[in-house]
Amino acid sequence: MGVMESTASIAKRGLVMVITGNGKGKTTSAFGQALRATGQGYQVCLIQFMKGRKYGEVLAAEKYLPDLKIYQFGLDSFVMRNNPAPVDVELARQGFEKAKEIIASGQYNMVILDEINVAVDFNLIPEEEVLSLAKNKPVELDLVLTGRYASDKLREIADLVSEVTEIKHHYNAGIKDRAGIEY
Ligand code: ATP
Ligand code: MG
Repeated sequence: MGVMESTASIAKRGLVMVITGNGKGKTTSAFGQALRATGQGYQVCLIQFMKGRKYGEVLAAEKYLPDLKIYQFGLDSFVMRNNPAPVDVELARQGFEKAKEIIASGQYNMVILDEINVAVDFNLIPEEEVLSLAKNKPVELDLVLTGRYASDKLREIADLVSEVTEIKHHYNAGIKDRAGIEY
């Protein structure tokens, strides 16, 4: 194989990208990535775990971004880490089945699994299954996994890991849940 050919094949290999950490900016970063990708002609699918609210980004995508398809698997309420409700477990499983189906379909150039790291940390989805999905993804697919608590094994197999670290958060000054900022 010539140099040009191998460069081309490296360029075409899709990436596994992990956005984690305890600061604010993971999901919004993933949406920024999605926006950039659709601008370059990608078909993007974003699956949200443990979330059901009509977030601003979901409303904006419906309105302006036909090449970004969003599925939500969750309720608009908190999942308890040590005691998730059966419905939370069921929705996470359904979301993960959808993720596998979407990835296997070959319909998308980029798939974003938003908050999947949290779903794994809460034991809603087995870590091994997520690792296997990432390792066996179609070669050209870009796969983005977000959420705090990304596991060590996921960090190991990823091509990119970014950690958003809280330095300051306006919550601590009593400024809570603003439209356009939090949702
Ligand atoms: P965003 O969706 O704004 O990009 P995120 O995906 O990094 O945030 P999550 O961990 O998914 O954050 O939490 C969802 C919401 O919880 C955020 O909208 C946010 O403002 C709030 N949040 C995130 N990090 C913190 C923090 N360190 N302290 C308090 N609230 C936080
Ligand atoms: Mg998030």
